[in-house]
Amino acid sequence: MRWPKVRELKEAITVILSPRFTTRFPAEPCTVPPRYRGKPELQPDQCIGCGACVNVCPTQALTMIDAVDTQPPVRRITCRYDACIFCGHCRDNCTTQEGIRLTDQWDLATLDRAETRTVHEFELQRCERCGAILGTRKHLIWLADRLGPLAYANPSLVLARQADLTGQPHDLPRSPEGEGPPEPQTADFAKILCPKCKCELNIRL
Ligand code: SF4
Ligand code: SF4
Repeated sequence: MRWPKVRELKEAITVILSPRFTTRFPAEPCTVPPRYRGKPELQPDQCIGCGACVNVCPTQALTMIDAVDTQPPVRRITCRYDACIFCGHCRDNCTTQEGIRLTDQWDLATLDRAETRTVHEFELQRCERCGAILGTRKHLIWLADRLGPLAYANPSLVLARQADLTGQPHDLPRSPEGEGPPEPQTADFAKILCPKCKCELNIRL
């Protein structure tokens, strides 16, 4: 019975003389390891609004809606860190690889849940013939820049890039609501088109 007591006493003295195991937070700020996965933050300059991160988010901390009734139509991507499990899938699957970051912020408690969400808007590009959503303008421009001269194989990308450079809106009037797209014309080849309209034009003209 005596030996275990001596062992515990030795252990206690060792611990008292050892450096502190825990941090002194909140008396001192806590430093996290370099690859710590903290609060996710969309990077407005690098994000193109493609929605790939939304598709891989397992908890719907990232959500997306396309608001076509606004002028101009926009895609809204909402990031809610109160639903985030900090898995890093969004960052690992980001199309531009820099559109979303997991920062080192970890002290995220708040009394107001509204503070945990951020909303980012991206202008949408619709098919200039049938009105179908192609994606965000930023995404088309990003693709055109990435492809360089190869983008000329897809006139829609070149036209989107051109519209951005000239500042001209490239969203021409479409058929009235409820009516189908108009009869294809040769001039439609100079419009930003969805794959379905492009296919129809190529077959019928
Ligand atoms: S870290 Fe995971 S849970 Fe959090 S936003 Fe990204 S994909 Fe969703
Ligand atoms: S995948 Fe990247 S570029 Fe696309 S919406 Fe998400 S953060 Fe933005």
